[in-house]
Amino acid sequence: MQEKNPRQELLSLIFSKDGLLSRSLKNFEERPGQKEMAEKILDAYEEDNIALIEAGTGTGKSLAYLVPAAYWALKHHEKTVITTNTIALQEQLLHKDIPFLLKTMGIELKACLVKGMGNYLCLRKLRELQEQPLLFSMEESKEVQAIEQWAEKTDEGSRSDIPFQVAPGTWEKVAAEGESCNHVKCPHYKACFFFKARKQAADSQLLIVNHHLLLADIEKRRRNPMQESILPPYKRLVIDEAHNLEDIALESFAQKFERIAFIRQLARLYSESHPERSRATLLRQELSVLSVIPPRLLQKLEIDIPAQKRECQTQLEQAFADLTHFFETVLENNTPSKESKKRITEFVAENPFWKKDIVPSLLRLSEEILRLSQMVKGILTDLEEFEDAPFYEKLSLHLLELQAVTQRLELSATFLDQFTQDTPREKRVRWYESNGVNISLVDASLDISNFLNEHLFSQQRTSVLCSATIATARSFSFLKKRLGLYDESQKMTEEIFESPFNYKERSLFVVPTDLPLPSSPDFSAKCIQTMAEVIEVSKGSTFLLFTSYEMLQSCYRALSSTDLSKRYPFLKQGEIPRHLLLEQFKKKEGSVLFATDSFWEGVDVPGEALRCVVIAKLPFSVPSDPLYEAYAQSLEKEGLDPFSDYSVPQAVIKFKQGFGRLMRKKDDRGCVVCLDHRIVKKSYGKQFLKSLPECNTCFAPKAEALAQMRLFYERTKKKPLS
Ligand code: SF4
Repeated sequence: MQEKNPRQELLSLIFSKDGLLSRSLKNFEERPGQKEMAEKILDAYEEDNIALIEAGTGTGKSLAYLVPAAYWALKHHEKTVITTNTIALQEQLLHKDIPFLLKTMGIELKACLVKGMGNYLCLRKLRELQEQPLLFSMEESKEVQAIEQWAEKTDEGSRSDIPFQVAPGTWEKVAAEGESCNHVKCPHYKACFFFKARKQAADSQLLIVNHHLLLADIEKRRRNPMQESILPPYKRLVIDEAHNLEDIALESFAQKFERIAFIRQLARLYSESHPERSRATLLRQELSVLSVIPPRLLQKLEIDIPAQKRECQTQLEQAFADLTHFFETVLENNTPSKESKKRITEFVAENPFWKKDIVPSLLRLSEEILRLSQMVKGILTDLEEFEDAPFYEKLSLHLLELQAVTQRLELSATFLDQFTQDTPREKRVRWYESNGVNISLVDASLDISNFLNEHLFSQQRTSVLCSATIATARSFSFLKKRLGLYDESQKMTEEIFESPFNYKERSLFVVPTDLPLPSSPDFSAKCIQTMAEVIEVSKGSTFLLFTSYEMLQSCYRALSSTDLSKRYPFLKQGEIPRHLLLEQFKKKEGSVLFATDSFWEGVDVPGEALRCVVIAKLPFSVPSDPLYEAYAQSLEKEGLDPFSDYSVPQAVIKFKQGFGRLMRKKDDRGCVVCLDHRIVKKSYGKQFLKSLPECNTCFAPKAEALAQMRLFYERTKKKPLS
């Protein structure tokens, strides 16, 4: 008989039928995919590999990567960073899976959740607010008092632990931030929540982070290799929910100028409505009682800074009014709308109004911002003369705040300069974005594959990328290309572990083949009618997943006016916060939820509460989205077909996510109904179908499809599992 090696023994000891997990879990069932997945990941640790793993729902992927990570930490004293996209998964890892695993294995390891600096309370800012009540308004004072009481009790000092609501503006006033933190020189350094959390991270072997933080860390390392970064050094990385990494990276590395955020920075310096709370006023008051301070310096704080701030504000309003006028009125074919994204194409940049009005207007704004920043810097330089004076220490809080504001102002000015340049922009895209409340200018990269390759994957000895949906038509090529996993010197393994759920018996995939195409004017009306019939067949407990809010609204309006809404509780995304919506959905038998984007994934409704998922349309990207449009053009230039090389694989992954909402536990059952029959009629549809778990299908005219659904629900009702 062949002898088992120690690692096989370890994995059997944990995952086998009579292993440690079986003794700790009541209804434990051996899942072959889970043990194999753990084995592949352990290989990746031992051989310094990259492992790409698709693990179908129910594989138990988190334990499959936690076991190798824990083993490696014990054996080799190396940390593993585990990154996820959702808070729900981070909490599950930290509060459920890791404690369970450590207890089951009888081992001790430290694990912690690492958060960005802005999530922690800054004690220095809080003390300052206590000493300077003028810094906040009457409305904010209650919140600040409550934060003070909470600060006395909290161990972590993290915003998510606050048991009450705090307005973003109030939190900003007490949140830790890099620019205004003087680290070891801060009198609160020893008690500082953020630095305590940093120390905890340095002492931990398993670090849980989100994708945003992971990317912020690599960007910080890239910009300042000599400075301390967010995460302690690590060489082993697990990326769970890896299908989201690219989108998060594109979003994280996009540079933005947001009107409201900029106004807040200006108000930090000087506010007309509350001059008494302005930093310039507070500093002037401190200085005005000191005879050594030259009157000119006081005058700068009292007159020059407020005047220049007003100049910036005026120029800001002018520039943004020009932009709005340009995009909503000057450009042809643009009707004003509440929410819009307008790409700055070559055509736009060639427009005489853009050249003659918009660009000079934004550049004037940049100049005024820089002037303001230099003015503040001048004051800081003037005050350096008094560095050794006894009063200087007392000013330090004001000076740190002013430094923080100047840094942000300079970044804004640099952004505007770059945004207005018309030099060729290789693999970048810029756009104007308005949501009815705020207006932003965005400059984003189209492709972060080289960046991730150079600064993330090539820096690791092991990278494990896993998700229930990263392969398209059983291939990892799309993900590898998008994430820069093309370095041939990097060893890579690719594995797909099927879901252990019995999709064949417990689910039915239905496509009514006689509905109009989505491009047809009749599509919406026929969809509404079919949705009503599907809801009747499944007796509610249905998710209706849309690709646009407009379609969601029109279907909701139409179906709400029928008596269906009296028999089945209707819930609509956006009406109440997401978690409450889900709670209600689970609680109210037969609910019907109308939802878009964020409900296609990361939503767990096990059991009979969800027995039908309707997908209205195949989730292709909106062709007019600036990022999509620009990327499609760049692919065309490379001689590639944007539709088959980008749109289809991207939509397949999203479709799989939507499909995956149905079965969350092995005894779940139900139908997934796709109202877009391009999935069976177009050649690209094969890629969608090939990506789904093996299940029964019914591709037939609506009447027959509904009849099959009825039979399915009847047959699976209370039927014991085989
Ligand atoms: S060390 Fe920095 S973050 Fe911590 S309390 Fe002091 S200023 Fe705030």
